[in-house]
Amino acid sequence: GEALAVSARVAPLGSRLVLLLVEDLTEARRIEAVRRDFVANVSHELKTPVGALSLLSEAVMDASDDPEAVQRFAGRMQIEATRLTNLVQELIDLSRVQNDDPLEDAEPVRVDELVAEAIDRCRHQAGTKQITMAAGGTADLHVWGNRGQLAAALGNLVENAVNYSPARTRVGIAARRVSVSGGDMIELAVTDQGIGITDKDKERIFERFYRVDPARSRATGGTGLGLAIVKHVVASHGGEVTVWSAEGQGSTFTLRLPEAGAARDRAQQHPDLD
Ligand code: ADP
Repeated sequence: GEALAVSARVAPLGSRLVLLLVEDLTEARRIEAVRRDFVANVSHELKTPVGALSLLSEAVMDASDDPEAVQRFAGRMQIEATRLTNLVQELIDLSRVQNDDPLEDAEPVRVDELVAEAIDRCRHQAGTKQITMAAGGTADLHVWGNRGQLAAALGNLVENAVNYSPARTRVGIAARRVSVSGGDMIELAVTDQGIGITDKDKERIFERFYRVDPARSRATGGTGLGLAIVKHVVASHGGEVTVWSAEGQGSTFTLRLPEAGAARDRAQQHPDLD
């Protein structure tokens, strides 16, 4: 309707222009639909823990003469509160990686430090599941980018590897330099022996709030935003993320990021792009 009315008005200006305007409107509608979906998803995700907290607080009041029940309800309130905190933090992280230009304060970042930080972040969770974490090939490698964003991206991948793996398995992080046309890249591969991902789900896991198994994701404190954050960080750094997986065998998520030396050389050749 709207598009047709516009095209009727501008028809005398030529069909090319009409086509452009119609395409513009279609794109604007698509963006609007994505935004609406996102807001609906956020509202739903916020409502779940808030609703649970409200019910649990009522239960605590009703159980005031039963200290054991109060303890139990309070414990569950803590879990819901943590869930809420995680969600809000990930929403802040997502908006930051979508809005900030990461290369504004880009610097050479040591790969061994990024990896150590990511492992540290999951140490507790891995410990309780007796998951072994091992890293290799990280010495003397540097990537070019925003330290905080790169740490968040790798941290999310390692966290997922631990969360979606059974007890007593292994999570490996391997780094290496690869030569591609246009400069060297650093490849960081996170491999797990976990539940794996079907081909169909592989296409969607990088979408905001998409989870293969929402119940399982929530149980591990997942928000469905981790891989969306990873994808954004990698894209804005001029890199890419790929996934290999076999159901029931495990997954490998691979990040490719510009090497610090190569990225600096490029910046020096084109100072205006700095
Ligand atoms: P979540 O917070 O749910 O982990 P992510 O965006 O990080 O959200 O991941 C999206 C979904 O992709 C997860 O819910 C899970 O189903 C799947 N997934 C991510 N990483 C792995 C992995 N290493 N092994 C199996 N499934 C994974």
